Amino acid sequence: MLPAFELSQPKTLPEALKVLAAGRGLPLAGGTVLFPDLRGGKEKGREFIDLSGIDELRYITHEAKRITVGARTTIAEILRDPAMAGAAPALHKAVDNFAGTMVRNAATVGGNLCCGSPSADTVPALLTLDAEVELTRASGSRTVPLDGYYLDYKKTVKKPDELLTSVFWAPAEPGSAHLFFKLARRKGDAVTVTGVSVMIAKTDGKCSTARIALSSVAPTVFRAHSAEEMLKGQKLTPDLIERAAQAATDQSSPIDDNRSSANYRRLTTQALVCRLLSQAWHQAS
Ligand SMILES: Cc1cc2nc3c(=O)[nH]c(=O)nc-3n(C[C@H](O)[C@H](O)[C@H](O)COP(=O)(O)OP(=O)(O)OC[C@H]3O[C@@H](n4cnc5c(N)ncnc54)[C@H](O)[C@@H]3O)c2cc1C
Repeated sequence: MLPAFELSQPKTLPEALKVLAAGRGLPLAGGTVLFPDLRGGKEKGREFIDLSGIDELRYITHEAKRITVGARTTIAEILRDPAMAGAAPALHKAVDNFAGTMVRNAATVGGNLCCGSPSADTVPALLTLDAEVELTRASGSRTVPLDGYYLDYKKTVKKPDELLTSVFWAPAEPGSAHLFFKLARRKGDAVTVTGVSVMIAKTDGKCSTARIALSSVAPTVFRAHSAEEMLKGQKLTPDLIERAAQAATDQSSPIDDNRSSANYRRLTTQALVCRLLSQAWHQAS
């Protein structure tokens, strides 16, 4: 049984922001993190602000210079979007590997970005897209690069009176390769042990864009910037890929837990970054 809780049910974004500004409540999107937390004794006595009636936060738009996903869009809706596999292949793969059908139907991209989990599966792909998030409070909005949004374990730059209202990114360079791999005990419905996303673009036989993001191997999902710098402007040889994968692994700080040892996470980070960089280099045209 869930403990009793107060619930407000705004129908518009301004109404929700007003309740949030009063400092009373915590946003409730799909509830796939909040309800298990509540059952586990966390967030007791909080008022929840149900976002399910706010349709203006539930959309996907593909424009020439920008792809935008509203925060209340579910993981299933991203998976079903006919243009997403082409526009953001790694994000499409991440949502395809996400939980089971029931959770995907309820869980939202906003909840995934806001829960601050180091294993949140949409985050690596969105980081390698160089995505930004829109944070909105009653007095206005600001945009923040996702690379910089996470401060520490379950800590973000979002203030308590702000809602994450959307995530957006520029379309990837034509011919670029965008990959994601989730290592877990099972496909779907399992927490990521090691997650890797890469984006590689090639110009005149050299690497013009290199982005690498890692999940579940540090307190937050993060971009491996030092490894990316080693690749830019270079032809990716097996030796360079190996050294960049080592640099990415050196930036990780995994822990032992009931799913994996820290050492296994380090070994699989190195192996998966190598594998995805090689694949992406060969796919990029
Ligand atoms: C069985 C099961 C399997 C799962 N599998 C996966 C998986 O494979 N991959 C994965 O990444 N996760 C997984 N999860 C975790 C969870 O489903 C996701 O993180 C999901 O995206 C959370 O979204 P939600 O809408 O349910 O968030 P909620 O539970 O509603 O909210 C989560 C947090 O975000 C805040 N929040 C939500 N929306 C906003 C907003 N717009 N603005 C500000 N704050 C907001 C809430 O206040 C809360 O703190 C799983 C969970 C379960 C129960």
